[in-house]
Amino acid sequence: MSLVYYFYRLEITNEHEMNAEQLKTVIIGSGPAGYTAAIYAARADMKPVVITGMEPGGQLTTTTEVDNFPGYPDGVDGPTMMVELQKQAERFGTEVRIGRVTAVDFSKEAGGKHILTVDDNHTIEAEVVIIATGASAKYLGLPSEQRLRGGGVSACAVCDGFFYKGQEVAIVGAGDTAAEEASYLSNICTKVTMLVRRDEMRASKAMQHRVNNIDNIEIKYNTEVEEVLGDQVVEGLRLINNQDQTTSEIEITGLFIAIGHTPNTSIFKDQIDMDDSGYIFTKEGSTHTNIPGVFACGDVQDKEYRQAITAAGTGCMSALDAERYLAALEV
Ligand code: NDP
Repeated sequence: MSLVYYFYRLEITNEHEMNAEQLKTVIIGSGPAGYTAAIYAARADMKPVVITGMEPGGQLTTTTEVDNFPGYPDGVDGPTMMVELQKQAERFGTEVRIGRVTAVDFSKEAGGKHILTVDDNHTIEAEVVIIATGASAKYLGLPSEQRLRGGGVSACAVCDGFFYKGQEVAIVGAGDTAAEEASYLSNICTKVTMLVRRDEMRASKAMQHRVNNIDNIEIKYNTEVEEVLGDQVVEGLRLINNQDQTTSEIEITGLFIAIGHTPNTSIFKDQIDMDDSGYIFTKEGSTHTNIPGVFACGDVQDKEYRQAITAAGTGCMSALDAERYLAALEV
């Protein structure tokens, strides 16, 4: 290290020490993973501060009815559930701050602590950081699709499929998720139309085999959605064949979009190990990342299950992992 660089880093370190807010536990993200981590962390006296992100409550705040979270026999709407989770975390002393973490420095320049910048202007040094920033479902981007989100357009068949019991639905996508969700929907709905934009599917051969052998799944290749039809609720689709440009219409009541998710990890790029799609790697059977004192839970590290209950489960794990990490530091 050159002498100039050494003094530059020293200056930065001293500046942080003088100005930065010192916190024990920071949880980034306020979905089921973040709030569950907060409940456990607060009860363990880890003084958690939750930085909510731009969508406080996470993906569930855009979900109408949650019927598959244990403990709600009559179901619960997503926003209500998130408010209750927040209250439960606050009951044990969690501080919830509306804000967005805009930069992180996990290089441990601050004497072993992790540096977070909130809303570009506030610096925090944290002993442990729990990342629970989730993932965002991709959508097609059609105005009619966006207008009817919550009115028949969904990005989660396991969450919303039941509402279309005995009805005809369509699903866009041709990966493992789309194939798995089409298969799931075929058990509930009378007919599932799968819309595949190319002349073949991306899903594994085993998944393709499965959907090809289900009688009430029809696969339309080279087909894209031109418009989602319906005023208040989905009534059908106008489709376009991208080979010959012919259009057609089908009648459905539910449209499922299964074209992938984007993990919300852009601020962690080059700071933490992640896969090619941006999902954070955690050590098997735990929520430890490659950075000591930084943990990840929920959809930001899970592209397979992606359920509120699994997110909550890994949120709990991350607080326990963090608690053990802090305890080991004090020995
Ligand atoms: P993928 O990225 O694998 O697939 C996305 C699919 O959506 C592709 O078929 C793609 O088409 C299609 N698509 C993308 N954009 C559009 C668009 N604008 N219009 C129409 N179609 C579009 O995402 P998945 O969520 O399916 O899977 C993510 C990862 O998770 C994969 O690695 C998958 O294997 C894994 N996974 C594994 C499971 C399991 O093992 N049980 C279950 C679920 C997921 P195209 O092929 O033309 O690019």
